[in-house]
Amino acid sequence: MRRATVPPWCWYLAFSAAAVIGYFQTPDTWVQTVCYDTIAASGVVAMVVGVRRNGGAAVRLWLMFAACQLIAVCGDFTYAWYARYLDNSSYPAPADAFYLAAGVLEVVVLILVLRRRLPARDAAGVIEALIIAGAFALIAWVYLMKPVTQSSDFTIAGKLVAISYPVIDLLLLALLARMLVGGGARNGAFRLLAAGMTSYLAADYAWALTDHFQFEAGTFASHLMDAGYLLAFVLYGAAGLHPGIRTLAEPVQVAGQRFSRWRFVLLTTATMIAPLLLAAQAWRNDNRVTDAGAIVLGCVGMFVLVVTRMAGLIRQIERQASILGRQTEELTELAQRDQLTGLANRRAWERALPLALEHARRDGTVLTLAVIDLDHFKHFNDRYGHQAGDRLLKEAAAAWMSGLRGSDVLARYGGEEFTLIVPDGGAQAAALLDRLRPLTPSGQTFSAGFAVWNGEESPDALFARADAALYDAKGAGRNRVAVAAA
Ligand code: GH3
Ligand code: MG
Ligand code: MG
Repeated sequence: MRRATVPPWCWYLAFSAAAVIGYFQTPDTWVQTVCYDTIAASGVVAMVVGVRRNGGAAVRLWLMFAACQLIAVCGDFTYAWYARYLDNSSYPAPADAFYLAAGVLEVVVLILVLRRRLPARDAAGVIEALIIAGAFALIAWVYLMKPVTQSSDFTIAGKLVAISYPVIDLLLLALLARMLVGGGARNGAFRLLAAGMTSYLAADYAWALTDHFQFEAGTFASHLMDAGYLLAFVLYGAAGLHPGIRTLAEPVQVAGQRFSRWRFVLLTTATMIAPLLLAAQAWRNDNRVTDAGAIVLGCVGMFVLVVTRMAGLIRQIERQASILGRQTEELTELAQRDQLTGLANRRAWERALPLALEHARRDGTVLTLAVIDLDHFKHFNDRYGHQAGDRLLKEAAAAWMSGLRGSDVLARYGGEEFTLIVPDGGAQAAALLDRLRPLTPSGQTFSAGFAVWNGEESPDALFARADAALYDAKGAGRNRVAVAAA
């Protein structure tokens, strides 16, 4: 028996996740910096090795993605160098140049990936991503960006840098949302990449909000945020090692997306952000709302997006309903027709007879039921072949129909047997059937038996009498019409 081998990405993920846990034990010295940067750099190495080994059409894009992570590691190292060696924590610092460059490049790479992966005309997916990103944009503006613009602690350059971070995070978040709601198959590499982005964004938002509220993060909390960043590096590395990276940037099919429950919850939560923010501010500031403008803009924006999405859904439902209606009509029609002759089939006929009797009772007309059977049809088949037999059935049906009125119902009962309802035929039906007989094509003939409804008998009893008359006609030498005894 062959043992299942553990794939490299699993090994890497397990080892580096253990290393991230070990990171919690490091003292706040160069040891910590070296430990952090080593784990982060291992993610870059894993990604480079993985995507080159896995190959695929988008290797270059993923190498660029790995380059973003490398630039970020350089930023971390520079940051530590300035803080630990030069004891310089000025802002903005050289490390910010690395971080911002890494962020911008990552946004560009992900846009390129998504452009390859998702179809251009997916308005629904774009709207949903905008709804989610819009909610975060409002929070980011109120808590992260606006305070920076109003602060006197920053130089102009400092303000620009400080605003750039939440803007880049927002773009990353919008891309993550687009990726997640965009549909298409989700392989392991997709999940690892999405988990990495989520981990990074969670750490970055936690860091930014801690900073904003001047909340003194303890050693554990700040380690936890570092672990979020580290986990992102590690998950990207594992994604690169996962064979699914080959197809991650390939076009996906997004036909008829389902509107799943989690998507519904996610979008509802996103649309609640603006009113919740309003409530929070009013409650905290004695009914004075400090960010009314931004909140109003957020509400209006969300409202327009949600209504647009709903309109799209309604259009989709209407389209599907009309297709369904057409198909139902076609199916109903098909279910009632005999395929070969185009006449009513036996199912339709069994429904038509009781209705016709009901009409005859109401109108006081004298209904006649006939059973028609081709003579020696087996011979015809044997002699000319079944295809010729089929043709005869079809042509005979058409020929007889030409001799009937619109109110008469000719149906194919089965094989070469037909039934005919003449709503007001009475005993004159004999003449009608005699007129039909010579219309039969290819020199063929039929025999028929008919019964005049007595006004009381059941459809089955009426049919049985007509059928018995048909046997009489056959017995009397065929090519003739016999009337049933009353
Ligand atoms: P009779 O005059 O006593 O009615 O003789 P018959 O040969 O017409 O009657 P029989 O019931 O012995 O044979 C009916 C034949 O009809 C047998 C069958 O192969 C043929 N048949 C039934 N349905 C079809 C069909 O859809 N297409 C063709 N080509 N033949 C059919
Ligand atoms: Mg026959
Ligand atoms: Mg027969």
